[in-house]
Amino acid sequence: MKDIECIFCKIVEGTVPSTKIYEDESVLAFLDVNPVNVGHTLVIPKGHFKNIYETPYEIIANMIKTVKNLSEALKKTGAEGVNVAMNNDTAAGQVVFHSHVHVIPRYVNDGFELWHGKRGYEEGEAQQVAKKISESL
Ligand code: 5GP
Ligand code: ZN
Repeated sequence: MKDIECIFCKIVEGTVPSTKIYEDESVLAFLDVNPVNVGHTLVIPKGHFKNIYETPYEIIANMIKTVKNLSEALKKTGAEGVNVAMNNDTAAGQVVFHSHVHVIPRYVNDGFELWHGKRGYEEGEAQQVAKKISESL
């Protein structure tokens, strides 16, 4: 299945060019056109699934396998660290609504910071929220 308007579907079908790194029957990995650091790679399913919620287990499993292999390859080729991230929904920063995982090579003092935990928990709040989430699994 594909979405004719979707930029990543166009990359899968080859009508939009990309710098490919890996592909198999269900997954494609290619360089992000606006990398955080050189080698920043996106791992996507070949089928059009909007986000993590809609991507079937077996496809996500294959994406994660590819993410692990790519992370090892980035380390071997000089990365000092690797961030693995997936944005789901606008609130989480998702811009392209075709499921994708970012694999980003990192270097000490490269200046790119992630979110910082600032909030902490009130008394009993952590237990309450953990219960609510685990009951929704
Ligand atoms: P998001 O914020 O949705 O997680 O990130 C989408 C990512 O896709 C961005 O990092 C952006 O640079 C990348 N991207 C958007 N359009 C294209 C494209 O046409 N080609 C490639 N290679 N990457 C793209
Ligand atoms: Zn798509």
